[in-house]
Amino acid sequence: RAKEDGRGTYRFFEAGMDARAQARRLLELDLRAALQRAEFEVYYQPIRDVAKDVVVAFEALARWNHSLRGMISPANFIPLAEETGLIVPIGEWVLRQACIDAAQWPRDVGVAVNLSPVQFKNPNLVQTVKQALKASGLPAHRLELEITESVLLQNSEATLSVLHELRAFGVRISLDDFGTGYSSLSYLRSFPFDKIKIDRSFVTELATREDSMAIVRAVTGLGKSLGIVTTAEGVETDAQFDLLRREGCTQAQGYLFSPPRPAAEVESMLSSARAQVIA
Ligand code: C2E
Ligand code: MG
Ligand code: MG
Ligand code: MG
Repeated sequence: RAKEDGRGTYRFFEAGMDARAQARRLLELDLRAALQRAEFEVYYQPIRDVAKDVVVAFEALARWNHSLRGMISPANFIPLAEETGLIVPIGEWVLRQACIDAAQWPRDVGVAVNLSPVQFKNPNLVQTVKQALKASGLPAHRLELEITESVLLQNSEATLSVLHELRAFGVRISLDDFGTGYSSLSYLRSFPFDKIKIDRSFVTELATREDSMAIVRAVTGLGKSLGIVTTAEGVETDAQFDLLRREGCTQAQGYLFSPPRPAAEVESMLSSARAQVIA
């Protein structure tokens, strides 16, 4: 990163900013056109019940199949989509598509859809969710919405009433990436979440760091005491999975079982995984 301590360096920094701003602008134009061009796709990653050893849900994860650049990961377009507000139509599309796909799955497993904080600024969010369910025929109890703490940081009165309304309709609400934000525990009191997703950063170091192990143990314990399902994200090794099972973590998700895959592969992920109906 260039420092702003000399004239030459400053000019260089400006030039660098220019190129970056241009690249960003190009990406934004592409992003605007991507919905019309049908370049988005929803991938699905299985979530397994640890004790029963079966798939109980799939997380819907957006992919952008750019005509020239190939597959672009959400890390590289969700932030831009949020800054430009494009996440609202993109998020709606993902939600509708995920409900349509899930309604056709051969088993009664759940589908988890990520919601951006920006989507909560849209007054039509509840209506959008209800319409996606109605249009697809997916029962509300099969839909899980994943939000991060940052959703609760903004305009929390309005946000909480939206969450309560969705919950009353039968949709389940998960707290995603738990442990990475601020004052996580107070959020558990502000809304009765159905699920806590333990962030991958803790799971990754489960077998190698005492403190990560202690944190995972504390969160699974918290989930048990509060009657909240706990899901470990980013499970990659048998060692991590064994430790999670021993701690009584409810669900696990990660490359150990499967990476996110196209919708057409859901059936094979289900049959190879001996899925069961969820309660
Ligand atoms: P997330 O909701 O926490 O999703 C989990 C991410 O971890 C996914 O990345 C998934 O592919 C990745 N992952 C799962 N298991 C493993 C593992 O074992 N190892 C490793 N290294 N990674 C694993 P992905 O698909 O790139 O998505 C990244 C983030 O982008 C998501 O994090 C979510 O915050 C956001 N995102 C994705 N799709 C959407 C969407 O439709 N709407 C919104 N608002 N955000 C989305
Ligand atoms: Mg998520
Ligand atoms: Mg997550
Ligand atoms: Mg995450």
